[in-house]
Amino acid sequence: MYYNENTIIFLDGAYVPAQQATASLYNQTMHYGNGVFEGIRAYDTPDGVRIFKAKEHYERLQYSAQVMHIDLPYTAKELELITYKVLELNGLKDAYIRPLVYLGDNMSLTPTAQVHVVIMAWEWGNYLGDKLLKVRTSSFQRPNPKSCFVEAKVVGHYTNSILATTEAKNNGFDEALLTDAAGFVAEGPGANFFMEKDGVLYTAPLGNILAGITRATVLELAKELDYQVLERLFTIEEVKQADSAFFCGTAAEVIGIAQLDDFVFPMEWEDSIGAVIQKKYKRRVAHNEYQNVYI
Ligand code: PMP
Repeated sequence: MYYNENTIIFLDGAYVPAQQATASLYNQTMHYGNGVFEGIRAYDTPDGVRIFKAKEHYERLQYSAQVMHIDLPYTAKELELITYKVLELNGLKDAYIRPLVYLGDNMSLTPTAQVHVVIMAWEWGNYLGDKLLKVRTSSFQRPNPKSCFVEAKVVGHYTNSILATTEAKNNGFDEALLTDAAGFVAEGPGANFFMEKDGVLYTAPLGNILAGITRATVLELAKELDYQVLERLFTIEEVKQADSAFFCGTAAEVIGIAQLDDFVFPMEWEDSIGAVIQKKYKRRVAHNEYQNVYI
């Protein structure tokens, strides 16, 4: 599904067939989860294939690497150019892009000097689908910001996401909503969360969540559309008094939520601010409007 005999990936300076690429079983990322990654999308726009907010994604990758003591040997601009090459070599237009920085052999808990960079891409629809979601309050909380760098996209952090999504699905839901270590609403396992109440959007402030690039885009769009957005802490109980809600993320884009646990949001999705933002987001990414690109 992700690759076939024709797929080319970037690995440590070379463009190689995915089927021939190998990694050591002694690598520190596999054993201890110390590696960093990104999730990026490219869209087929009227100006050609364009990676949406490549600069922001690769700067976040650099931040993630830096806090995890990983010496990333490429600039954000170099990584962007390499990514365009990967897309071109695979003839991809609308694509999901996965850069992964993984480490060399190291069985101790010390920084690893050997750093590997891989960039893969494949066609991938909206990963949460396009139907309104049934979401379950997770029994798992997001990682405590005093235990790790929650704003970094670290491989090991995603065990928390897998536990939360699996619990939600095993209980008949599509996705989970997690609280932070203090019990306030944080985010989904792979997307940020917004709710609408009396014409105002609410989302968790930065600090206990991944600083989503789609979240930032939603804030920009809401401002352009003159909607009020409050970045503040709120509880699950407050979500159950909201009119509407949605998740947003690079892979999920903007996707409406029908219900949280047994609470059904009373507003029709089509009447919500989320639906307006969803349409505007699609236009922005697919028409290459207002992008921060290097080339
Ligand atoms: N929160 C988490 C935990 C995520 O994994 C993601 C996906 N990267 C997001 C939020 C959304 O971030 P972005 O909009 O930058 O994709």
